[in-house]
Amino acid sequence: MLNIRQTKHTKRGISMRITRGVFCDLAIWMVGFGLCIGIIFPFFAMALGVPTAVALRPIFITACLGAGALVAVVNYGLSRWIVGVRLRVLANGMNDVERNLGAVTFSGDLSRCASDSCMIPVDSQDEIGESAAAFNRLVESLSASMTTQAAVRSFSEMLTSQLEIESLADNALQQFFEHTGAAGGVILYESEGELKVAASRGVRNPESVAVSDHIMAVVRTGQRQIISIPADVRVEGVIVDFRPGEVIVFPITHKSVPLGVIVLAAGGSFNADHRALIDLLLQGLGLALNNAMTHDRLQRLAAVDPLTGIYNRRFGLGRLHEEFTRAVRTSSFLGVLMLDIDHFKQVNDTYGHLVGDRILKSTCSIVRSLLREGDIFFRYGGEEFVAVLPAASTEDLRDMGERLRRAVADSALSDGDRTVRVTVSIGGAAYPNQNVKDEDTLVQLADEALYRVKDSGRNRVEISK
Ligand code: GH3
Ligand code: MG
Ligand code: MG
Repeated sequence: MLNIRQTKHTKRGISMRITRGVFCDLAIWMVGFGLCIGIIFPFFAMALGVPTAVALRPIFITACLGAGALVAVVNYGLSRWIVGVRLRVLANGMNDVERNLGAVTFSGDLSRCASDSCMIPVDSQDEIGESAAAFNRLVESLSASMTTQAAVRSFSEMLTSQLEIESLADNALQQFFEHTGAAGGVILYESEGELKVAASRGVRNPESVAVSDHIMAVVRTGQRQIISIPADVRVEGVIVDFRPGEVIVFPITHKSVPLGVIVLAAGGSFNADHRALIDLLLQGLGLALNNAMTHDRLQRLAAVDPLTGIYNRRFGLGRLHEEFTRAVRTSSFLGVLMLDIDHFKQVNDTYGHLVGDRILKSTCSIVRSLLREGDIFFRYGGEEFVAVLPAASTEDLRDMGERLRRAVADSALSDGDRTVRVTVSIGGAAYPNQNVKDEDTLVQLADEALYRVKDSGRNRVEISK
């Protein structure tokens, strides 16, 4: 109401508004104009030579006024019929679109607003056509903003449900693909001074991306890079599964601290909307990646022995408990090896604690390199370690124990011009060869076997029978 009153004087000049209805105004103006013509016409007739007595006869004046009014009424009817009907079609179209958009807003299902159901046809080249086209543009930008909103909402939901770096990055990549038209990509994060692959999709060798100069430059400078590859340029050594038209490398930061990099490649090129959306999503990803990295660090701190980098006793025993429960449930083997470095006190006394520490580390890395992917290796005490080998029977333990023993005995560590060598004694026990009730008893049996080795001269493997 307020708006209608205020817009009486439009930008283009004073409007001819009288009432609140355009057609009502039109009727008043037309009838008024018709009557004016009716009044003027007798004088016009006189000027053309019609005798005054005829021109001013009441019947003639009444006929002129009647003709003026008739023209006005016919004109009004025509304008209602021609313009009014078109405007009604336009208004109905807008109402339909408004209903469809409303349904989309509540359901979040943008497919319900496929281009036809949310657009009105533009079938005239005039103000009505212009209004329809402007309305369609408005709907387009509204639906683009709803698409962005939906993408941001689903991205945020995903971010809050992921705490592990790898799954977070993989889900993020999937959503970047869905919303930006990217078909290949890698997310890298900085860990201990180097870039590690958090997730990759459609990339042949993600590790090679991590050491690329372009990527390093983005991490160092924090400057994003957009590399467009014209269609006529041959691309050597393409690392994605398709020929990329454009590759973007954006830093992932949190509070201006660089955390990593995202690389996205598209067959064509990313449009301005895609780039803006990538920017928007990256802000959320920065925060979530920071949380995941902190979580990862805390988990590692809680689980890892700081000197050797292998699991600590608390975490290792927890994992052993899980593996034992699984072995009982699935009736499968589970082997435990306990290793103790021989005469380690002498090593410390002879070469010093620093060399002792280096021996601990190198022994761990030798053992780790020989264990399989699913095996668990942890520091049980000072120079005692436990290896948990899922699916390993007594025979498997004997083989693996012997391999570990030999590998340690064959290795040497140099300290200046001196060479330090150590050996290990190994005891073991396997479930269900040993029909124990819990994992503690299994460890105890392995420990007893180890002490029998110590008693009988060391540098040997004995598995509990
Ligand atoms: P054995 O062959 O019977 O196992 O003799 P040992 O000397 O290895 O055993 P003992 O238990 O007498 O000595 C263990 C030594 O390990 C004593 C301790 O100072 C040393 N140790 C434990 N933790 C560490 C560590 O983190 N660093 C270093 N350098 N030494 C350690
Ligand atoms: Mg020892
Ligand atoms: Mg010991």
